[in-house]
Amino acid sequence: MSRVMEGDLVIIGAGTAGSYLGWRLGQRGHRVYLVEKQKAGEPGSHIGIFHVDEIRFAQFGIPLPEGDELIGYYPEGRAWPPDGDEAQIVRYPFYVMEMPLFIKRLQSYATGAGAQILFETEFTGLLLEEERPAGIKARTASEELIIKAPLVIDASGVDGVGRVSLPASLGVETDPIDPQDFLYVILQYWDDLEEDFPRGLNFYPFHKAFINPGYGEGAIVGIGQPEKLEIAAQVQEQFLKERFPGVKYRLVKKTWGRTPYRRPPFSLVADSFMVVGDAAFMTKPFSGEGVTSGFTACQIAVETADAALQKGDTSREQLWPLNVRYFRDQGAKFAGLMAQLLVAAELSRNDVNYLFSRDIIFSGYDFEQMNRYFWVKMGPGRLLKTAAALLGGRLSGKLSREGFAALMKAMNSSEAIKKHYERFPENPADFPPWEAQARELWKRN
Ligand SMILES: Cc1cc2nc3c(=O)[nH]c(=O)nc-3n(C[C@H](O)[C@H](O)[C@H](O)COP(=O)(O)OP(=O)(O)OC[C@H]3O[C@@H](n4cnc5c(N)ncnc54)[C@H](O)[C@@H]3O)c2cc1C
Repeated sequence: MSRVMEGDLVIIGAGTAGSYLGWRLGQRGHRVYLVEKQKAGEPGSHIGIFHVDEIRFAQFGIPLPEGDELIGYYPEGRAWPPDGDEAQIVRYPFYVMEMPLFIKRLQSYATGAGAQILFETEFTGLLLEEERPAGIKARTASEELIIKAPLVIDASGVDGVGRVSLPASLGVETDPIDPQDFLYVILQYWDDLEEDFPRGLNFYPFHKAFINPGYGEGAIVGIGQPEKLEIAAQVQEQFLKERFPGVKYRLVKKTWGRTPYRRPPFSLVADSFMVVGDAAFMTKPFSGEGVTSGFTACQIAVETADAALQKGDTSREQLWPLNVRYFRDQGAKFAGLMAQLLVAAELSRNDVNYLFSRDIIFSGYDFEQMNRYFWVKMGPGRLLKTAAALLGGRLSGKLSREGFAALMKAMNSSEAIKKHYERFPENPADFPPWEAQARELWKRN
């Protein structure tokens, strides 16, 4: 026999996205259940230190971190070319924080707003009535649970356990994420560092590597590479050999994790169902960070879910505004960036060195714009300068023919994909042709 509970909505996963949703929907007076398979205090502990752009705290109404949660505040960072010491200064502030404590804080906001978090409770399947979700099934060490609710939100992270359990007929892609579609992130926590080892925030985009602040005087030497964990380990080793030969340090610990590196499902909603955060592949394509980009969708999901619940109608049509508002804005930019990155991976080391040296694509300005707006705004002057530098690079042979062609292709395809997402259909009836064309555009990449 299962114990039966009832709420207005049930959220799978109390990580960053789920806890934020629980907080905001609880504040709106809904009876919220969150199921979390880990113990209280565990979510986020496999990552430890992470960072969040300063501007996002005000955007999402989250108080700034303090106490043990706060590792440091960094008003700027440096972006490094593949070779040489001419770093670009990126004037864009970040908070470096302790993830388990940040999640604990969000969870305390959620419970303060009346949400109930059931820890050590694993989602095991959707409760279906007439082929549509009517709640979830879950289990603890000692019992089976049924939580009935007119809305289920999947915030279960990369594996999207709710999404993959949906009946395929509901119109959301249900295939599990392919292991090749992850960014495998390895973090090495180093201590006892030499004087001249880089401090603060440092990005090495060619290797997809970074050196960030660790605990005390230490640093985190990290990498994020697609396809395979072994590839990430190899590139990290190579990066360290090239950049820091013979460096002395003490390895405190080494961890790794996965973030999605692929386009989101074409629809984030079905009857009585929504999916957000890593479960919907909403990480920033250029960095793999996903906490605040997930909040963007959560914020829209809160307004959409609230309106639907108040109306007593959680049909796909009522939940559709999450698709429209997400994909026409952040979703369109991320789709464009993803298309760009897939092609730009073909740039050679020399190409990237050249682009760094000419302050284009990899300039401090570009990095700042990318983080702030998820798109680099180009006035006519900058556009002209970029075009001239690209052409000049090709004519002088400093930019390879393949690199030049890849950049041209990246610009075209990313514009086409972004524009297509900006036209995401207002009406679900117009979705099938939109989806067919989107598939076609991705195939061309
Ligand atoms: C090494 C590493 C470093 C990162 N650094 C940063 C960074 O600096 N900044 C940044 O913004 N992002 C960073 N990210 C990405 C970021 O961690 C994720 O994008 C973000 O945590 C996604 O939040 P989420 O709530 O969608 O998923 P998660 O945080 O993964 O939460 C999902 C929750 O669902 C629970 N769950 C899963 N399955 C079930 C089930 N069957 N039943 C019940 N519960 C379940 C999980 O236990 C988990 O607590 C990093 C990722 C990695 C791997």
